[in-house]
Amino acid sequence: MLKIVADTHTHTVHSHGTGTVEDNVKAAIALGLRRITISDHGPLHMCYNIKDVEAYLRDIETVREAYKNDIEVLAGVEMNLLSSEGDVDFPEQWKDRFDVFLMGYHKLVRYKTLSDRFNMMLFKRSTEKAVERNTQAYLNAMDRYPIDIIVHPGYGLPVDLLKLAEYAAKKGVVMEINAKHPEFTPEELSACAKTGVKFSVGSDAHSPGRVGDFLPALKKAEAAGITAEQVINAE
Ligand SMILES: [Zn+2]
Ligand SMILES: [Zn+2]
Repeated sequence: MLKIVADTHTHTVHSHGTGTVEDNVKAAIALGLRRITISDHGPLHMCYNIKDVEAYLRDIETVREAYKNDIEVLAGVEMNLLSSEGDVDFPEQWKDRFDVFLMGYHKLVRYKTLSDRFNMMLFKRSTEKAVERNTQAYLNAMDRYPIDIIVHPGYGLPVDLLKLAEYAAKKGVVMEINAKHPEFTPEELSACAKTGVKFSVGSDAHSPGRVGDFLPALKKAEAAGITAEQVINAE
């Protein structure tokens, strides 16, 4: 099985996780991880958004400094897809203060228009037309924002994974194999891998006890024949 040396996706009390930044970092150190990304939810999620971005970034900075000899701590944000045009709640005014931009689909966000809300939340049918529209939304987002990682693709919103992978590969955007939402089948994952896209394995931990808990994602990756060279946080 792949050896994962970093957790690329974790939540804290700044959105709806149960642990503090320090709790997550200590959990990662205990597991021997070399790097951890704190990635709470973007500003336009209606329930789980980072409540105070200044406090969030300050907290990460303090913990980063305190544990700098043990682990690397990255400041991330898990942004939300808001429209079929690919609008995302990218925190423009703080962009230089984040290290990593993750982006994925979540319901209960402030959709750009009422029709986006209908199309993406209420009527997310797997019709050909809907899948095409959703996939195009992700592609547009990759064109419009400096996205590093597309998180849990296919979760909550049906997309054409292969088309997404092809475009991500072209743009140098990483596709996540999420341990909490391992939506890919091994066959889909293996087809995506053939595009040359790179993957990240993220726990999507919402409590310190789940930091570094990659097992469901690793099982999928193994079944799909994914190698360490294809995963940014493996060796
Ligand atoms: Zn998410
Ligand atoms: Zn998450």
